[in-house]
Amino acid sequence: MSSTLVWLRDDLRLDDNPALAEGAAADGPLTVVYVLDEESPGIRPLGGATKWWLHHSLESLAADLKEAGNRLVLRRGRANRIIRDLVKETGAARVLWNRRYGGPERAVDAGLKDWAAKEGLEAESFQANLLFEPWTVRNGSGGPYKVFTPFWKACLDSQDPRQPLDAPQQLPAPAKTGERRLPATDTLSDWELLPQRPDWSEGLAKEWTPGEAGAHERLETFLDGPVTEYGTGRDRPGVEGTSRLSPHLRFGEISPFRVWHALRARFPHHAPADVGVFRSEIGWREFCWQLLYENPQLATRNFRPEFDDFAWDKPSAADLRAWQQGRTGYPLVDAGMRQLWQTGWMHNRVRMAAASFLVKNLLADWRTGEEWFWDTLVDADSASNPANWQWVAGSGADASPYFRIFNPVTQSKKFDAAGRYLRAYLPELADLDDKTIHEPWKAADGAGGYPEPVVGLPESRARALETYQKLKDG
Ligand code: FAD
Repeated sequence: MSSTLVWLRDDLRLDDNPALAEGAAADGPLTVVYVLDEESPGIRPLGGATKWWLHHSLESLAADLKEAGNRLVLRRGRANRIIRDLVKETGAARVLWNRRYGGPERAVDAGLKDWAAKEGLEAESFQANLLFEPWTVRNGSGGPYKVFTPFWKACLDSQDPRQPLDAPQQLPAPAKTGERRLPATDTLSDWELLPQRPDWSEGLAKEWTPGEAGAHERLETFLDGPVTEYGTGRDRPGVEGTSRLSPHLRFGEISPFRVWHALRARFPHHAPADVGVFRSEIGWREFCWQLLYENPQLATRNFRPEFDDFAWDKPSAADLRAWQQGRTGYPLVDAGMRQLWQTGWMHNRVRMAAASFLVKNLLADWRTGEEWFWDTLVDADSASNPANWQWVAGSGADASPYFRIFNPVTQSKKFDAAGRYLRAYLPELADLDDKTIHEPWKAADGAGGYPEPVVGLPESRARALETYQKLKDG
């Protein structure tokens, strides 16, 4: 009986996992491995918050695999070398994995496929993490879309995403002894993915349950409530109006096919418009991955090359720290940055406002913000993070026009009128009335030590517009 090696990456689940399902359908034993690869050229090392998530997600995955009769093998180092070693160790005749779409990751996978072909082994990859493979969505001239709406229309007009696969019940492991025995595994805690000295993860642990069960619970909660009011709820940071599935999707703890068909099952006929709006957000995820697939340098290079001449300012260390720590003096920005620090997540509307404040009011290069989010978001991914930062900066695909500068005061008055969100993260403003809380500098008795604005809105807006105009004028 030949054995199979299944290499899991950003697909830490048993449900709707085509590589795992294929391995389970074979006769022989299955070795399931996760490789922490921080060495292959170009692979971006994880940030602090995603490391925390990964630790817990692997713990959960290992428990689920154990229940199915298997054991997760953990290895650290260059994936290419580790997978080759494991194939030799286990005598596997097949290696299976689900596809990744980043440039360096694709290079690793292509290298392994070449090696396997030379060795006479089978290496097969599957579609698992995107509903539409990037190279299949093409415009009239055969190129990639650069604007979201026609991209998503083309997706919706193409083949319906396949049905999800059930989790395999049994995953037979190699024997515990003998020549072809289960390979040794690293100990997860030795990877030191969790923060120590200081341990800042308490707020993350309160907010999240990494792992497959936690992901499905989030989906159910969303389908039982917020989804039918998503169209308006998604803009209100003070209510639970969105799914909070992003970190689960980021690590592949739930499959987009499962989400897609769960929506379909819940609304078999005439889905409310809100469901369509939610689907199109899943579409934005697909669009971002397509952008990364076509532009592997998305996190470092302007999508629009004319932005290479943009005159970014370098904010002072104090201003940058004020932004990072949520002390800019603008409540919506500060509440968002503190939510990010405490929970590893920030509401989308606030992400837009906080990012706009950094790149427009402080005129910082968008890469400065992208890096901070990369380190602090539990959902930080190599497609959505740079694509959205570039969208806000105006340098990206289908970007927000350069003259759109989010006004954090107007935004919080409009989307958090009663200040619920602001009060949750800015305790020093909790006693201000619903009007003053958006502009605490107007409070007659001061605002309990809350900082003065680091920059005036009208003048910083004018400076940004002038700088953008200069770029336009060449
Ligand atoms: P929901 O509103 O419930 O949406 C469902 C899913 O759709 C999300 O889980 C996510 O997978 C996807 N989605 C929604 N909006 C977007 C979007 N604008 N772009 C791409 N996918 C989207 N999202 C990330 O997943 N990772 C990131 O690193 C990331 N960085 C961002 C940086 C900035 C500056 C901005 C403005 C947005 C960023 N986003 C990122 C997009 C968005 O803010 C989050 O996906 C969303 O807030 C996650 O919350 P949710 O799961 O409740 O979303």
